[in-house]
Amino acid sequence: MSSLKIAIQKSGRLNEKSVELLKNCGLTFENYKSSLISSVSNFPLEILFLRDDDIPEYVQDGIADLGIVGENVINETEVNVHYLQRLGFGKCTLKIAIPNESDLKQISDLEGRAIATSYPNILKKYLADNQINATIRTISGSVEISPGLGLSDAICDIVSTGGTLKSNGLKPFADVMSSEAILISKNGIEQEEVVKELMQRIQSVLKAKETKYVVLNVKRENLPIIVNLLPGVKSPTVVPLAEEDWVAVHTVIQERDFWEKINKLKAAGAQGIVVMPIEKIIM
Ligand code: ATP
Ligand code: MG
Repeated sequence: MSSLKIAIQKSGRLNEKSVELLKNCGLTFENYKSSLISSVSNFPLEILFLRDDDIPEYVQDGIADLGIVGENVINETEVNVHYLQRLGFGKCTLKIAIPNESDLKQISDLEGRAIATSYPNILKKYLADNQINATIRTISGSVEISPGLGLSDAICDIVSTGGTLKSNGLKPFADVMSSEAILISKNGIEQEEVVKELMQRIQSVLKAKETKYVVLNVKRENLPIIVNLLPGVKSPTVVPLAEEDWVAVHTVIQERDFWEKINKLKAAGAQGIVVMPIEKIIM
């Protein structure tokens, strides 16, 4: 198999989760902070550590075959790349925010105002879609202080918890786009064997993250109700216990309906419920 290159963020909010995902795929590599390239010893892959802003273009131009980067950065750079997989981390929202004391009431009130942002292309498109003429002031960082300095009437920036907005006397005004980390590839390489093999590993790690392995004990007479509650991959595994009228049930539960299921199982007489993380699910 020929070797691939994947670009991930060198340091910052996506670095740790990107490295963790690749390691969970069974890839062995050194994650030196000082080196910008690292070879995977047990898979034909090289890892490039880059500024996140550079990743979409590197992938579009084929300098890297694959990349992990925020959707916000992909949209801002307006590149033509292939979306292979949404990764479920780095979730955030690009929002317009205004000072607490602002007189702006609705989006159309932005007409003729100035908005500071590090995302001029995304903002330009959003304003055009909403038929608003406003001045975009592009700044590369510390966007939140710009209204306080009299440089703008609003900002457009990444928000996750809203803590930074609050501490700068700002409040959310409109959602522009939601974002998460995405695995992208250069167009046309999705069908290559080595890409498919890596994708299979990544998907099995992501699938395992959504599910938990559950073992519980139940009286044999209550088993039908318990089995009914559990969809299982095929059906749950039922194992006899030393105590004759008791059995152990092994199954897999989706993280999203975990608590609802667990409470129903308890109500149906399940005891000694043990929940374990799953490392990989191979489909
Ligand atoms: P670089 O030095 O690589 O240019 P950066 O400073 O531009 O990094 P980070 O702050 O590390 O970027 O954020 C990287 C990405 O993480 C963002 O583009 C976004 O997709 C996502 N992100 C940003 N802020 C948050 C947040 N508060 N919570 C979750 N994800 C976020
Ligand atoms: Mg950046």
